[in-house]
Amino acid sequence: MVDHFKLLMRQAVYTGLDLVFPPYCVHCGRVGSLICPRCLTTISTSEPRDLPLLDHIWIAGKYEGAIRDAVHALKYGGVQRAAEPLGDLLAEAISRQGPCIDVIAGVPLAAGRLQERGYNQAALIARRVAERLGVADVPDALARIKATASQVDLSAAERRENVKGAFAAEARRVRGKRILVIDDVLTTGSTMSACAEALRMAGAAQVFGGAIGGAGHGTDG
Ligand SMILES: [Zn+2]
Repeated sequence: MVDHFKLLMRQAVYTGLDLVFPPYCVHCGRVGSLICPRCLTTISTSEPRDLPLLDHIWIAGKYEGAIRDAVHALKYGGVQRAAEPLGDLLAEAISRQGPCIDVIAGVPLAAGRLQERGYNQAALIARRVAERLGVADVPDALARIKATASQVDLSAAERRENVKGAFAAEARRVRGKRILVIDDVLTTGSTMSACAEALRMAGAAQVFGGAIGGAGHGTDG
């Protein structure tokens, strides 16, 4: 109820701002929204993915076109509001299957990255998905306990090794619960798997994954 109210308030403020500074589509530049209705129709579905330790994974779309541009705007362009249409896309994909989820948590960002960017894009997406699905957003359910190198240039095996033991879950937040872990891009899934391992160790009953874009190697994820 409270979250719903906050969402409505934020929308009212943004609607006001939109009248003064109308957003542009991140992909085609059309005025009106960050992902315009036409570009929304061009988003293609990503290959379904399976990872050990995860009960199911939802991916909003293939990491290309409008999705890629919106994720870039969010991660590198300082456009925090891009988390909203992206979170909506993911929430829509998840709600179609109506799973039962108790807690939503974004993948924690490495401390250096967080300082550099000023916000965690996965946490912003998680907050939006939580609002849309009416589920508790628990940003501190997961923590990063080990510094890791960027995954961009690493092979699948190196990525697994890089993030192994990098996360810890807060048992009192997750024990016996059904947890949905949110990340921006799913590449090899090594980050998502490392989070799932930490959550299982802390007693999570079920672990699900949600990502905006599904990508091949060569991207950070
Ligand atoms: Zn567009």
